[in-house]
Amino acid sequence: LAEIPTVGRLFQAKQLAPVTTPFAPSKTLNNTISIIRNDITKLKIDCIVNAANESLLGGGGVDGAIHRAAGPGLVRECDGLDGCDTGDAKITSAYELPCKSVIHTVGPIYEFEYRKDSCRPEQLLRSCYRRSLEVAVANDMRSIAFAAISTGVYGYPSGQAAKAVLDETRKFLEMPSNIGKLERVIFCNFEERDMEAYKALTPVYFPPT
Ligand code: ADP
Repeated sequence: LAEIPTVGRLFQAKQLAPVTTPFAPSKTLNNTISIIRNDITKLKIDCIVNAANESLLGGGGVDGAIHRAAGPGLVRECDGLDGCDTGDAKITSAYELPCKSVIHTVGPIYEFEYRKDSCRPEQLLRSCYRRSLEVAVANDMRSIAFAAISTGVYGYPSGQAAKAVLDETRKFLEMPSNIGKLERVIFCNFEERDMEAYKALTPVYFPPT
C-alpha cells in the first residue's frame, strides 16, 4: 500500500489541479483515496472489485482478466452464489490472485437502463459502489480497489461515472458508522479516458487541504 500514492500525496506533488468545490477539504479522506492506472489483477491488497455480469460466471474485459488470473476455483465458487442483481455485490475468495478477496458487482448497461428511466444508470452505478464498500467493511477488508465499473462494454460515459462514484464514495466514507473502517480506496483505471476523468474530478470531491 505504501507504494500507491494517495490523493493527499498527489496534491503535494502538484499532480492534481485544485478547483473550486462545495466539498470540505479533509486530510484524512485525501489520505484514503488513490487514483492509479494499472492491471487490477496485480494488486496485493485486501480486495478488488470486479465488473461482473448477473450470471457471475465470467465474461470479457476485466471480468475475464480476473477469472484467468484467479484460476478455476473462482468460477466454481461463483457458480454457488446464484448470480447477482444489477447494483448489488457479492464476495468470494481470490484463489491465485495476490489479493485476499474479490467483490463482484454488476454495473448497469447504460443504454438499456437509460431507456427505462434516465435516472436509473446513475442510481444503479452508485448502488454498485455503495454495496461493494458495505460488503468490504462487513468482511473486515481494509483496502479495496475498484475497476471502472460499467465504463467498458456497458457503455457508461467516463466523466459521468467518475462524478457519481466519487460522490457516493465520499458519502460512504463520511458516514459515522464507516469512519476508520477503510484504510484505502483505490480507483484502478485501465483506459486513459477514465484516468483523465478521475484526475479532473477527484479534486472536486476530495479537495486539497
Ligand atoms: P463493463 O461491462 O462493466 O463495462 P468491462 O470489463 O468492459 O466491464 O470494463 C470495465 C472497466 O474495466 C473498463 O474501464 C476497462 O477498461 C477496465 N479493465 C479491463 N481490463 C482491466 C484490468 N485488467 N484491470 C483493470 N481494469 C480493467
